[in-house]
Amino acid sequence: MRVANINGRLALKEHDRYRDVALASGGRFGPDPQSVYEVWEEFAAWADEARTGLGGAADDASLVEPGADTVWGPPVPRPAQIFAVGLNYRDHVAESGLDIPREPAVFTKFATSLTGHERPVELPDGLVDWEAELAVVIGRRCHRVTRESAWSHVAGLTVGQDLSERRLQLTGPAPQFSLGKSYPGFAPLGPELVGVDEFADPDDLELGCMLEGGEVLQRSRTSQMIFDVPELIARLSAVCPLLPGDLILTGTPAGVGGARTPQKFLTPGDVLLTWIEGIGTLRNPMHAP
Ligand code: ZN
Repeated sequence: MRVANINGRLALKEHDRYRDVALASGGRFGPDPQSVYEVWEEFAAWADEARTGLGGAADDASLVEPGADTVWGPPVPRPAQIFAVGLNYRDHVAESGLDIPREPAVFTKFATSLTGHERPVELPDGLVDWEAELAVVIGRRCHRVTRESAWSHVAGLTVGQDLSERRLQLTGPAPQFSLGKSYPGFAPLGPELVGVDEFADPDDLELGCMLEGGEVLQRSRTSQMIFDVPELIARLSAVCPLLPGDLILTGTPAGVGGARTPQKFLTPGDVLLTWIEGIGTLRNPMHAP
């Protein structure tokens, strides 16, 4: 099952078009993409039936066909909690000149940094870097769960970018990860959220990013994580209850601009493409302030 946030409303993918969930379900599920995670299991069961049962006439009022004026929002527009993990791929730890962490390095990105597919990102003054990341969305409250049961609490996966202004991130008496990674638009997500059961192996997906018309910047596999998704859920939920609709950005592989010689950062006019196997490609143009 695939869902998207189209013009601020939850849409269910049906072949290469979408159904507005509130209209197609007769109001059983609301239009707010965030609210569906509270009733994820019920929604997933309905979506399974809807996909086989609708088939649908082309004039059905619930049909949504994205066009040039479509606004794609993040599949989770208002998560109660956003967890992000630094230094979670061995090759990225090595390029950062650090030791393999024994515990996940956890920070947050503030919710005002969330944005969607095709949304422009305004580059603030500074050194803005890319970080392609697998984004995990929680579908069932969990507290103190084992890694064995961890996947059963996940609603789905989407493509994420952990855009980072390196100067602010690394300046001060202690690094400012959360603030330096939270300018507006610094957390693009999408285009769709894909249910976990759509993946043959959700622990081994290719991910990467590139500049449109340019070079591939990052390419790796999520199986290269130091702390994999079940381990992150076990360790995060050992401290914080994880709530439906919470977001976990799981870290980035090697290839960030700040670790290159010479360093390379995003500039106005760049279009950043971020992809994950089995999910899709998230596209974000970079703009001058
Ligand atoms: Zn990151």
